[in-house]
Amino acid sequence: MPLPAAVVVTLALVASPSAQGPVHAVRFGSLWDGSRSVRDAVVVIDGDRIRAVGQGDTAVPAGARVTDLRAYTGLPGLIDAHTHITYIWDRTPGTRPRGQRRLPAVTVFLAQENARKTLEAGVTTVRDLNAGNDMDFAMRELTRSGAMIGPRIIASGPGISARAGATPDPAAMAAQVETRLNAGADWIKVFGSRGGFDVVDGAQTVTADEMKAIVDAAHARGTKVAIHSYGPSGVADAVRAGADSVEHGADVDDDTLREMARRGTVWVPTVDHNRYYIDAKDEYGFPAGAETALRDYIQRNLASVRRAIALGVPMAMGSDAVYTMFGQNTRELGWFVQAGMTPAQALATATTIPAKLLGRESDLGRVAPGFAADLVAVEGDPLARIDALFTGVRWVMRDGGVLVDKR
Ligand SMILES: [Zn+2]
Repeated sequence: MPLPAAVVVTLALVASPSAQGPVHAVRFGSLWDGSRSVRDAVVVIDGDRIRAVGQGDTAVPAGARVTDLRAYTGLPGLIDAHTHITYIWDRTPGTRPRGQRRLPAVTVFLAQENARKTLEAGVTTVRDLNAGNDMDFAMRELTRSGAMIGPRIIASGPGISARAGATPDPAAMAAQVETRLNAGADWIKVFGSRGGFDVVDGAQTVTADEMKAIVDAAHARGTKVAIHSYGPSGVADAVRAGADSVEHGADVDDDTLREMARRGTVWVPTVDHNRYYIDAKDEYGFPAGAETALRDYIQRNLASVRRAIALGVPMAMGSDAVYTMFGQNTRELGWFVQAGMTPAQALATATTIPAKLLGRESDLGRVAPGFAADLVAVEGDPLARIDALFTGVRWVMRDGGVLVDKR
């Protein structure tokens, strides 16, 4: 989509702070570049791109502007594959996070807080999966131009859904894909089952034939599809329909997990979001008994993650962050380590794996020449203890611009 001239000028100023000046050299005590660790690393940045990655004093170009982050561990900017960045609660006394009504423009303005907290967690790219009134498209444009401080946003617009028990209509579902794409969606999101907040029963709502019609229509237009399913039947149907990623899921059978490994279907299990709902149950006013159901779902969700790791299913970090969860985006990685991943394998779910899912594997998820200049500095060593990442992010660069500096 061409940007108006005025916006292009802003983009150039924000995204290429050094375009007119010297290159920028950022030094880390240790850098994990997406596949290996480099001691005393020097990342040379030209405008919004990484030009080179080297080691030691000799790797700093003459005349470069230097940022010394040698007290920290460097990582590629992280990717959160599942957010709801337009879900905002203004904390008015007597209100709950859900159900507040306001003008879409006001929501976009208030959602700057979610965008900022996401960046402060080290996340420089999000795939946002369900928003109305073009609010996600607005935030995509504002964060791209630099008018709003936030991550790069890949946006789906409103998810496609069906009522349980409705007469299946694959053609109508395919038509909804066209509507979304014509409105500007980067991805197609499908709510294939019930499930969300304190509801975890997972009853399937979109049929296998409807899922297939949606996937075929989207793929014909070169667009990928994420299908939400809390229950196992919806996951099985989504995988066989050709979904590019499956969101949530528990009690997933081994045949389906093997099929995901074979096809390369990415699983975004969003284990941590139910931990958040338990922590925030009073804020939401969930009924008594909700906590028991949420804890039970977490255990079944996590058991499936353990089997998926053993069977080689590619997985991505999705926080499913809503409302007051922003800032906790990376805590999903703690569950992945608990389920058997090494910290480096967990970091791959927030870098190289989602970059490939997004079709951005030559642009995002690594610190390498030609890649977007997205970098994170963490106090401590998340390669040794993944939880260093949850509280240790001190500095974040996106597209060559420093957007967080808490040193
Ligand atoms: Zn979600």
